[in-house]
This record gives sequence, structure tokens and C-alpha cells, in this order.
Amino acid sequence: MCGIVGYIGDRDISSVLLVGLERLSYRGYDSSGIAILSKNELSYWKRAGKLHVLEDALKQLNVQGTVGVGHTRWATHGVPDEANAHPQVSRAKKIAIVHNGIIENFGALKRELISEGFIFRSQTDTEVILRLIEKYLDGDLESAVKQALSHLVGTYGIAVIAESNPDRIIVARKGSPLIIGVGKDENFISSDLGAIISHTKDMIFLEDDEIAVVTKDAVEVKSLDGELIEKEIQTIKWDPQVAEKSGYEHFMLKEIYEQPGVIRNIFSKYVKDGKVNFSNIDTDKIDLSKINRFIIQACGTSWHSALVARYWLEQSARILTEVDFSSEFRY
Ligand code: GLU
Repeated sequence: MCGIVGYIGDRDISSVLLVGLERLSYRGYDSSGIAILSKNELSYWKRAGKLHVLEDALKQLNVQGTVGVGHTRWATHGVPDEANAHPQVSRAKKIAIVHNGIIENFGALKRELISEGFIFRSQTDTEVILRLIEKYLDGDLESAVKQALSHLVGTYGIAVIAESNPDRIIVARKGSPLIIGVGKDENFISSDLGAIISHTKDMIFLEDDEIAVVTKDAVEVKSLDGELIEKEIQTIKWDPQVAEKSGYEHFMLKEIYEQPGVIRNIFSKYVKDGKVNFSNIDTDKIDLSKINRFIIQACGTSWHSALVARYWLEQSARILTEVDFSSEFRY
């Protein structure tokens, strides 16, 4: 699952999108792309490989526009090449979609759509969402997206733009984050706070099965049944620098250098008169005799830490402990 960024407003759109993608790049990716509506006309650029390849391609052009979406892809379906990179675009109906996640029933949907005459140009699962929107689009993009989503099994964070509705970005999520950054006469979207927090600290967090219409001066969130949902705008208080590399060359390096401070912070709660003291942990609430199994979900380093915790829990507490990869857990 990789990164989504989007913008509607009057700023220099390609730089908002490219800077956003740059900030998402720490998650890893294999290709990238952007789509922009300029004077109601859709254009898009995608490249395999690192972001600078896309940036170099855009450098010679004077890309302008008022609505746009961008993506860094980490391929799950199909090789990391230009055709499979996002945005996935319908040339017939001039729609562009970026997607994070996995559509589990994409094979069956694809076969059905092909039998109805739709032509697929990529190997991605994402393209079935695009073709479904293309199938249902009859003037109202929001309604077409909603109808398309009703067929999907799996996870998605999506952002969709189309020439037919040039004043809006439609976003939706299920099991994959989607955040709307609220500005004045402009709005931002992203899968990750860090990509947009330098522009605004006022955020709306979409929940699963919510869809939003984001225009320049409004954000309307609805349930998939069309019911309006009153969303709270949350103001992020922490420093955006924390989400960035703070001058370090890599996030890993930053994290290594931050470790003494982080450990000091955590332990300061449990140090009394210069000695480690766990007496303020309320263990009375935990009745181990009632627990017969622990499941720890983790990934990467936390997965390795969890293996150590399993060893301790099984040896000291004599409670069966299982460690699973978070990404596989639902299966
Ligand atoms: N499943 C999609 C693809 O392979 C999206 C991958 C992602 O989240 O980057 O194209």
C-alpha cells in the first residue's frame, strides 16, 4: 500500500503534488504518476522507477491546473511499469483514479467487464475500479464511484477526478487511510498526514465506507447510502518537522539518532529517585488466569520484538502466544 496525494485550488499544482509525493516516498514505492485537470481537460504523466524520473519529465513542461491527484505505487498486481502505474486513466470517459489497497475480487469483476466489452490496458486490480466507474458514469461522478464501490471486495483508499465533473475530487476509503486537509479556498487530500501538513493542520479523517466530495471551498462526507455525515475537523497540534526527516539523510538514520531520546521519554515515567520503578503500573486490572491465549500483530522490527515477547509470555506467564504479520492477519 503506498501513497495518495491530491489538491484542488489555485496553487502551483504540480509542485503541491510532487512535494506531497516526495513526502510519501519514505514508505517505499516502485513507480509514480500524477493527473491534472486544466481548463476542464485531463492530462496525466506516469513513470516507473524513482520520483526524479517523473519530476524530470515534468520539468520541461509548464503543467498548470486546478485539480489534481498523484500516487506512489507499490505494486501488488502487475509489474512495476508505466502501464500499471497510477493514475489509471479511462481515455474514453476521461477519468483518472489513484488507489491504495487490494481488490480481492478483481479477477471475477475483470472477466465480467471484459465480457461486456471493456478493454483493459493494465494488469492492476485498480483498473477494475476505473472500468466500473467508466461503466456507471453518466454525468455524476460521485454516483458512478458509489455504484462502482458497491461491487468491490477488498481494501481501498481512492481519489478520482474526471473531465465531466471538473470542480471536484471524489475520495473514499475502506481499510486504507484517506485524510482531507481543509484550507481556505483550497483543499488537500492524502493517505498520510505528512504529505499535506505543511499546507494545513485542519484535517478530516475519513472512516471506512465513507465517501467525500471535495471541492475548492467545501467538503461533503456521506455514507455509501448517501446519508450526510457531520465530520469533525481535527486540528493537528504536533510539529510537521517530526513527520519529516529533520535534516537527516534517511528516516532510518533519524530513527536511530532519536532512540536515546525516545527511550528516555518512555522510561522517565518509570524512574523514581534514579532507579527503575514499575510500581505505578496497575497490574491489578489484568487477571492472567482468565487469559488463555495472546495474539500479537506486528510487522518488520515490531514483529521481531513480538517474537521476544512471545518467548517471555510463554516462559514466564505460561500463556500460549501467537505472533502474526498484521498485513496477513485478516486472512
Ligand atoms: N493494488 C494496486 C496496484 O497494484 C495498488 C497498490 C498500492 O497500494 O500502491 O496497482
